[in-house]
Amino acid sequence: MAIISCPNCGTKNRVDEGAAAEMQPVCGKCGAALDVSAASANDKPVTVTDATFAREVLGARGVPVLVDYWAEWCGPCRMVAPVLDELAAESNGRYRIAKLNIDENPRTAAQYNIRSIPTMLVFKDGAVVDRIVGAQPKQAIAARLR
Ligand SMILES: [Zn+2]
Repeated sequence: MAIISCPNCGTKNRVDEGAAAEMQPVCGKCGAALDVSAASANDKPVTVTDATFAREVLGARGVPVLVDYWAEWCGPCRMVAPVLDELAAESNGRYRIAKLNIDENPRTAAQYNIRSIPTMLVFKDGAVVDRIVGAQPKQAIAARLR
């Protein structure tokens, strides 16, 4: 069984992955088609770019998306990375974790005024609802996603 959040209304649906191969699963509340592949995609942070940011982050509905703005040369970012991996693995469809490399994707970093990294922005339904600046302990980051 997998828990899949409805892309339309955010309702969490229990889906039998075996049966899903036979028949397109739909949301029990609104009837929208559920993306079964999204269940496993939630297990680790998703890499977003200038090209995919609008679709992956701004287009997400119902669940908060935490975007980690990072770069290879940033020491504290490397400390945060395993914490975000754990949070992603524990998300169970309640939120998504995304990572954006600011050197490779300067347009999105500039758009959100990222002056120091790591900075983590929490988006909900396309809007910034929280901003976390600097490396934080796991519990502090998890609390922002509740
Ligand atoms: Zn729905």
